[in-house]
Amino acid sequence: MSNFAAVANPAVVKRFAVIGHPVAHSLSPGIHAAFGKQTGIALSYTAIDAAPEHFDALLAEFAAEGGLGANITLPHKTRAATICTTLSERARRAGAVNTLIRTPTGWEGDNTDGVGLVRDLTERHGLDLRQRRTLLIGAGGAARGVAPALLDAGIGDLFIVNRTPERADALADALAQPGRVHPRYLRDIGSLGTFDLIVNATSAARADGLPALPMALANPRTAAVDLSYGEVAIPFLAWARAAGAHDRIDGLGMLVEQAAESFQRWHHVRPETDAVFEELREHRAELVTAD
Ligand code: NAP
Repeated sequence: MSNFAAVANPAVVKRFAVIGHPVAHSLSPGIHAAFGKQTGIALSYTAIDAAPEHFDALLAEFAAEGGLGANITLPHKTRAATICTTLSERARRAGAVNTLIRTPTGWEGDNTDGVGLVRDLTERHGLDLRQRRTLLIGAGGAARGVAPALLDAGIGDLFIVNRTPERADALADALAQPGRVHPRYLRDIGSLGTFDLIVNATSAARADGLPALPMALANPRTAAVDLSYGEVAIPFLAWARAAGAHDRIDGLGMLVEQAAESFQRWHHVRPETDAVFEELREHRAELVTAD
């Protein structure tokens, strides 16, 4: 636990980072720099590329160097949940951590993805999520983060499909609402009916491409949401347009909102997000996806 001795001189610039793989194109350093400037908090926020086999060692090194907090991104969110000495209620429910907060005895793990998504959908885009029949595609770290928050926001039934069915089953089990949450096989997606909210929480478009999605999944009221943004979100949002979805939303607003929630956990100040979101949106054509 020597990595977690009190930081000697808190007057020096506070150190934060995002840890992922890959992470080079992450927008998080720029977002946190903008929040720091806006709130007058001097901070350093860097991107640390950690392959899975190096994650634990690089995180320990970051702690030993005085790191006060970190965002954790793909593919480390579930691993991060296992190394924390305490977990917030929402991180425990998610079984995934995207925010680490230094404490004297180790890391506290939190998950701000869910609240970030719900805030973006309801406050920025004005969606009423209540009673929406919802399809969640994916069961990785991001899906685990957003599912409890969507349920808490009042959606109707939640159907979960995933390439690896066991992970959809495990997520449904963890959500512990068997009357409301239904894991299904991805190959059966054509028989699931139509949905008012469809959330793509896969990283499929980064590699092999999006799974085939029937047009009948969407209806004229559907909100289709990709947690990715930039070019990685294009295939799903193009499908949503062709399928006639009413709203087509990428993950840029969620990214800014989850960052604001992490910032609040670390600095106890809530930054204003609209200006940062608008600036990122203006440069959308140049964006490369990574959170
Ligand atoms: P992850 O933990 O690695 O999970 C990846 C998910 O994608 C799993 O469900 C995986 O299925 C599925 N998948 C990967 N390749 C696939 C393919 N070829 N066909 C079908 N499914 C495939 O990653 P994550 O952290 O959940 O991130 C998922 C996406 O959300 C990423 O694009 C990430 O950038 C984005 N995200 C955005 C924000 C934001 O703030 N906007 C926050 C978090 C994440 P298996 O279980 O079968 O492997």
